[in-house]
Amino acid sequence: MATKNNNKQNTEKTGNKKRAKAPAKKVKKTAAKVSAAAKKPKTKAKPAAQAWKKAGKAPFRIIPLGGMKEIGKNCTLIECNDEILIIDCGLAFPEYEMFGIDIVIPDFTYLKENSEKVKGLIITHGHEDHIGAIPYLLQEISVPVYASPLAMGMIDHKLEENYLSCERHVIKAGDVIRLGNFAVEAIQTNHSIADALAYSIKFPGGHVFHTGDFKIDYSPLDGKVIDLNRFSQLGDEGIDVLLCDSTNVLRKGYTPSEAVVRRSIDEIFDNTERRIIIATFASNVHRIKYFIEASMKHHRRIAVSGRSMENVLALSKSLGYLDDIPESVFVDVSEIKNLADKNITIITTGSQGEPMSALTRMAYDNHKSVKLKKNDVVVFSSSPIPGNEKVISQIINRLYEKEVEVVLASAMDVHVSGHASSEELKLVHTLLRPKFFMPAHGEYRHLVEHAKLSHALGQPKDHIFLLGNGDALEVNDSKAEVVRGYTSGEDVMVDGYGIGDVGSVVLKDRKTLSQSGLITISVALDQATGSLMSEPKLNTRGFVFVEEHMDLINEAISVVYNTIGKSTSNGALDEASLSRAIRSDMKTFIYNTTKRNPMIIPVILYV
Ligand SMILES: [Zn+2]
Ligand SMILES: [Zn+2]
Repeated sequence: MATKNNNKQNTEKTGNKKRAKAPAKKVKKTAAKVSAAAKKPKTKAKPAAQAWKKAGKAPFRIIPLGGMKEIGKNCTLIECNDEILIIDCGLAFPEYEMFGIDIVIPDFTYLKENSEKVKGLIITHGHEDHIGAIPYLLQEISVPVYASPLAMGMIDHKLEENYLSCERHVIKAGDVIRLGNFAVEAIQTNHSIADALAYSIKFPGGHVFHTGDFKIDYSPLDGKVIDLNRFSQLGDEGIDVLLCDSTNVLRKGYTPSEAVVRRSIDEIFDNTERRIIIATFASNVHRIKYFIEASMKHHRRIAVSGRSMENVLALSKSLGYLDDIPESVFVDVSEIKNLADKNITIITTGSQGEPMSALTRMAYDNHKSVKLKKNDVVVFSSSPIPGNEKVISQIINRLYEKEVEVVLASAMDVHVSGHASSEELKLVHTLLRPKFFMPAHGEYRHLVEHAKLSHALGQPKDHIFLLGNGDALEVNDSKAEVVRGYTSGEDVMVDGYGIGDVGSVVLKDRKTLSQSGLITISVALDQATGSLMSEPKLNTRGFVFVEEHMDLINEAISVVYNTIGKSTSNGALDEASLSRAIRSDMKTFIYNTTKRNPMIIPVILYV
């Protein structure tokens, strides 16, 4: 796992979620930009596309800062003629061994160094792995952001929490916007969140097509089918480089439609008079709307539990996604005790076993208003994100202990993926027929399999490029090559207010502390003679329970006596060498007697 240790950054300046306030100047400046932008949107439909056709081809490069060989922190740059366009700016959740890390973001050094070139940030959709790092980017550079209504609502919420603002433009499928010399067209796709977009980007260097996260759904809940007609037209026009979602390349066949979920939900509602509790992703607004509609049909009122679920629902209402749902069907979760079980649906967070989520609190009897009852029906309308399987199965076991009926996607179609399976990918490749192909949004195995899929459809091997984060694909008319390590593609870890100040050394210490604990050894020495003024003191944390291991502690203290005696007779009295000697002797003693390697910290006082 690549890590980054960058102590240069000022942690106070770059504080995140609990930030007290951002520099007032910055906010004022950007706020003025927002009002100017609101009056005059930069949307020019046809001239932009025509300008591209007239222009000759300039060399360009594509630089993924994140999202390659990982599922998370998607962020890709297109750079041509001293102009940079950013596609997505997401975060990743920490891996198992990143102790105490809250989130991981891309390294924005290249963007900071080239900030005057940046023309805009375009967002494919509102998932965290595509928008989660925007507040961190905006603390470094000022950039106009373009996103569909739901994604922009989510971005607004993040910026408010961080006392940030930016020039913002809400766009929808079919819009063509001009950012410097980039003509960007937004194209309707389907995904597990409303308003997901693919982008066709035409500029003096050529034509890049970025699918974003997508699947092909002929019967999506909002009726907006992926615009395959436009995919086909743009394929006919000629695409130089395709970046395509690789998440589900290992799955055979087609990803089922959201309509499948609708049928399963109907079946559950038709067949029970018990309380129904549904855990799902807050951002899947259309699916949540269907849960509400099914509840209404069965005379159930809806209680919503969990902060992110409440936030997204409020946002969906304000954007008009829930216009035909009367406010009276909702009931505060504290009021459900007054309703019969058959009249209650609870929609909740916690489908990923998040420790503080509403469902976890219900499972562990910590929820203020919901006490689970025997025969309650709990539906997981989700699949575990890799890495979360264990905590989710712990919660499921708790639910079973409560004799709750648990419905999982593995047994009933209460969840479908939002990503295209291999047959859908084949269709998209066939429609777009790019000159060069760069698999994106996937772990390494996904990228490799996607490359194979593309080759099997006729793409020459030397026209397929597997990039890592920080690599660049340099394209010059009909030639393309990869420059490895063009810029830093390393992980930047965020811990509390600190961005990038926790690197591999700190993580290694955290690992040692978590695995073997800590021993401190305090000794007070006479300044003049170097002799001990009192008995050395040992303190331990996470090592052994001292009261039960007094023999070991006493032996360890005698080791310290020996080391000090030996060092004094050798004349090694300075603090550093004495400290080294104590640490080394103690490490050997502890390892030989316990086969453990705790962190050992000598503290030497001269009095
Ligand atoms: Zn997504
Ligand atoms: Zn994604």
